[in-house]
Amino acid sequence: MSYFPGMYHIALNQEGRAEEAWEGNGWRLRFQRAPTLAESTQATGLARMIASAPLVTGSSDRVRWGRRGHEEYTVRRGYRWWRRLASHRPEMVALQGLIWRSAAPLKIKIFVWLVGQERILTKVYCAKWNPDISTQCVLCNGGEETVDHLFRECMAARGLWLRLGARCNHRLNCPSMGEFWEATRKLTCRGDRSLESKVRRLVIPAGLWAIWLTRNSVIFRGQRFYMENLWDTAEGCIRDWGKFIVGANTIELHRGGHVDVGTG
Ligand SMILES: [Zn+2]
Repeated sequence: MSYFPGMYHIALNQEGRAEEAWEGNGWRLRFQRAPTLAESTQATGLARMIASAPLVTGSSDRVRWGRRGHEEYTVRRGYRWWRRLASHRPEMVALQGLIWRSAAPLKIKIFVWLVGQERILTKVYCAKWNPDISTQCVLCNGGEETVDHLFRECMAARGLWLRLGARCNHRLNCPSMGEFWEATRKLTCRGDRSLESKVRRLVIPAGLWAIWLTRNSVIFRGQRFYMENLWDTAEGCIRDWGKFIVGANTIELHRGGHVDVGTG
């Protein structure tokens, strides 16, 4: 997996045993879909590596950890492997920054993590189990409600990211989800331990959470969508979570990234 990280995700039988891939006279690699050009190159490399391994017949499969087969699993080795794997995916690097460096509540960090993994119960996700439900986005009544649409492409999301971006001097409206996570990475990695940096790291979780709360209030409470309410929710999150950073009574993130802290 660490040599060919993309191969596992498209493998047809991810829990397969070695004997299941052996077809009497050679190895057979099966995938869920046709590999892309880049994946084909990886698949060829993988096939070569497998073919070059010495074959031991008559013994059972064993699970071993690491590139050198004798290595035992340790948390340290597991974490190193995960870091290497994550470096291939911009959303993983961005999420690390948000999870480890943001002062947002734990519940919100878990939510942000799920957004990054596209494991949020959007309408399109739910329609996999119940094809009868409408998949239309309730904020714009236009696109299909996927993670990409709801949190990036929707006009509601675009309006929010435009205003939040102005608050932290950072472009958050992006042409793809990959670029959105890349912008997030830059926003959360940039800077220092200053109050401004800490408050800036609340912006993405606050924006994502505000979109989700607003969408839920339209669907489950029948409320009408107003851009101003979405903005107020995001601003309220930054204000509430920001108070814990400095223990102040009020905190305000202004245009250009300036932060005001008050005790009144
Ligand atoms: Zn929409």
